[in-house]
Amino acid sequence: MAFLEDYQRELKRQSRHGRCLHYSNGDRCNEVVSAHSIQKRGQLNLIAEDGHVYRLNADFSILEKTKGFPSLKKTGVNRASTFAGYCKYHDNELFEPIDNFPLGPEREQIALYAYRSLCREFFVKENAVKVLAKMKDHPELDESSRRFLSALLIGHSLGLEGLKHHKSIFDTALSGSNFEQFEFTYFTSRSPCSVQLSGLLYPDYDFEGNHLQDLGNNETPWDLITFFTAPVDEGWAFGFGWHVSSNRSCVQFMQSLAQRVANGEKVEDMLLRFSLSCCENHAIRISWWDGLHELSRAAVMERMYVMMHPSVPVSSRYLAAGCEGIANWQYEYVHTTLRAAG
Ligand SMILES: [Zn+2]
Repeated sequence: MAFLEDYQRELKRQSRHGRCLHYSNGDRCNEVVSAHSIQKRGQLNLIAEDGHVYRLNADFSILEKTKGFPSLKKTGVNRASTFAGYCKYHDNELFEPIDNFPLGPEREQIALYAYRSLCREFFVKENAVKVLAKMKDHPELDESSRRFLSALLIGHSLGLEGLKHHKSIFDTALSGSNFEQFEFTYFTSRSPCSVQLSGLLYPDYDFEGNHLQDLGNNETPWDLITFFTAPVDEGWAFGFGWHVSSNRSCVQFMQSLAQRVANGEKVEDMLLRFSLSCCENHAIRISWWDGLHELSRAAVMERMYVMMHPSVPVSSRYLAAGCEGIANWQYEYVHTTLRAAG
């Protein structure tokens, strides 16, 4: 089908169109590099088998064949999670404290992980807007497909506007080294890791199903939280990081997680549920996935399906239950800038 081929070609063209998203891009920029949004040395290599990991395959052509159901695709670690979003000079200079040192309870490191998640999403979203704007008038489209692409374009454009707002806040904070403006909570683990990721979310409901903010209201900017995995001294960590301007939703979001843990729910289950429901940028250990029970795999795929199809209604309790007993790793410690409740 010529439309799908044209769409894929255009998407490829945009994603190869490198640009430097560093806050002081300009004169000092040199060649754009293919940067890993999930670090290769300390993270992807931890879970790679024969140099490969599984990645979510959200290609339009695949979705056509599988009736919208996502699938996983073996991907070489050199290509997994890369985006052409920084020049070599700025990539090396800015991310030195996280690329060459394990994560510790340092706000500067959190700010950098958060910034990388934000820039990657910005890059992907900007590409999607450009591709949709071009493809919505493709001569092969019928009226209903054209309307569908136009609606997608509106959604992505709104998302991009939100990201521009947050990027300008991050740019200002980072260029002034105002790292105290970043908050975090992260959990460390010494178990073998099977899922690595980076991403961000406008949180709508917390882990107890309470409403946080109205994503139907475009008048005021939405609060934003970023999340990522990272190497630590002994093992790895799953972290959340956000700018204080998003405290209103993010603090309640993190407190609801703490409350559930206090009530006896396993944090491993909650973070896996969150990862599958809110992120499309993961890398998954192949033998772990292949060894999962069929029912567990079905539960995971169901989550990813809902995440990839914004038109499928989501329960307010989507982070409150589901996917229990699939994560076979343990978190041992938590580091947080939040004060204990009460
Ligand atoms: Zn640059």
